[in-house]
Amino acid sequence: MATLNQRAEIALLDVPLQQALGRAMNNFADGRVRVMGSLPHGEALRDHARMIRAGTLSRLDEHLVAFQRSAEGNGAIVHWARDAAEARALVVEIAKGNEVQRIVKSKSMLTEEIELNPALEAAGLEVLETDLGEYVVQLGHDHPSHIIAPIVHKRKEDVSALFHEHLGTPLDADIPTLTAAARRALREAFLQADMGITGANFAVAESGSIVLVTNEGNGRFVTAAPRIHVALVGIERLVPTLDDLGTLLQILAASATGQPLSCYTTFVTGPRRSRDEDGPEQVHVILVDNGRSRILGTELAEILYCIRCGACLNVCPVYRNVGGHTYGSVYPGPIGIVVTPALDGLGPWNELPQASSLCGACTEACPVRIDIPRMLLKLRAESVDAGYPPDWLHFGIRGFTWAATRPRLFRWGARLASVAQRLAPKAGPGWTRWLPGPLGGWTQTRAFPPVVSESFSARWEKRQAAAEGADRRN
Ligand code: SF4
Repeated sequence: MATLNQRAEIALLDVPLQQALGRAMNNFADGRVRVMGSLPHGEALRDHARMIRAGTLSRLDEHLVAFQRSAEGNGAIVHWARDAAEARALVVEIAKGNEVQRIVKSKSMLTEEIELNPALEAAGLEVLETDLGEYVVQLGHDHPSHIIAPIVHKRKEDVSALFHEHLGTPLDADIPTLTAAARRALREAFLQADMGITGANFAVAESGSIVLVTNEGNGRFVTAAPRIHVALVGIERLVPTLDDLGTLLQILAASATGQPLSCYTTFVTGPRRSRDEDGPEQVHVILVDNGRSRILGTELAEILYCIRCGACLNVCPVYRNVGGHTYGSVYPGPIGIVVTPALDGLGPWNELPQASSLCGACTEACPVRIDIPRMLLKLRAESVDAGYPPDWLHFGIRGFTWAATRPRLFRWGARLASVAQRLAPKAGPGWTRWLPGPLGGWTQTRAFPPVVSESFSARWEKRQAAAEGADRRN
């Protein structure tokens, strides 16, 4: 498998991807700034939301038990899954036990995390994604590249070509024609499905409700039309009360899509009652751990505050340039480079914490102020301790530390670099177009700035001496 750097290089040269990212990224980021700025107490709301998340996770066990009690009181059936395999097995078991053949799904990152669709298909079940972005992903045998906008890596032209192939729409179809074609295909599937599968944006302990936030309304069809609803819920999604939920819904919509509130906020509070006109006969809630309880109580526990709004992706200079597939993980961007190694271990993901400039834009955008750079430094330190970085980097850093702590040697080295740079190929006045060896990674996509002929400390000493001379003369 290609390395993270190699994948990033491919993404940077991918013209359609760069066009798609260029069109989408600013819209999300600008929308968030506009709506958060228009909230009368936006900053206080963020503080309050952070407090809610911290308080919930500090007593997660109690809230989980309270949720189970409330949900079962509403008639739902609550299951617990320690890991992805248990969660997948539970869904298959529920489907088989109820003679399910066709399943419709709404968007859920947790089901991506546990690789649910391949397991359902292997069990002989038909699964259809009904979120428009996820539907496009499924048609194209692709993967989502953003946690709230799965096809942010695709241009309208790419979707037109896919729909032309699978749904017979004209190659130059406009967006209303494409969405109408998808709607026709999906409506039929909703009516025929035996089971609907969703994730959950939140699960409310007080009421036992599952809360889904969507902009397409497909979540309502998935939870209301089929006779069985299965909701997979990460255990960190708990919210103690409906009041707390109000705060989180407000900042979620503002941070995710720059809306005051998402178009559809759906509450599922148990199966249909005798007086209800529709709704599922059975509601199953699967509370999934899959590594989350291992993170609680560690220095990475703060990552569980995440409400999956995607705001950190939209402002991250790395994500904005390379897109989500480059990361190779289900969760991309700043949230992904912490949560993936946290859930899955640093072993397979030791490159991910390097995919950040540590600029802090993620923390500034995060509605619950998660300190992502702090956790990245922690993961990088663990990665060094475990011996993952290559030897050349290890010895290079040690060599630099040795030279940088010897001022005379450092000054001499800087002078030498300045002379050597004059001989190197130029990209502009003083800028270097090519550097040798491992330093070449820098000049592959940009020029290296001029090394000054006189260091800052030399100039400082000169200025100090000049100032003292002037004092003496006065
Ligand atoms: S880390 Fe913060 S900004 Fe990023 S997805 Fe989670 S809540 Fe949103």
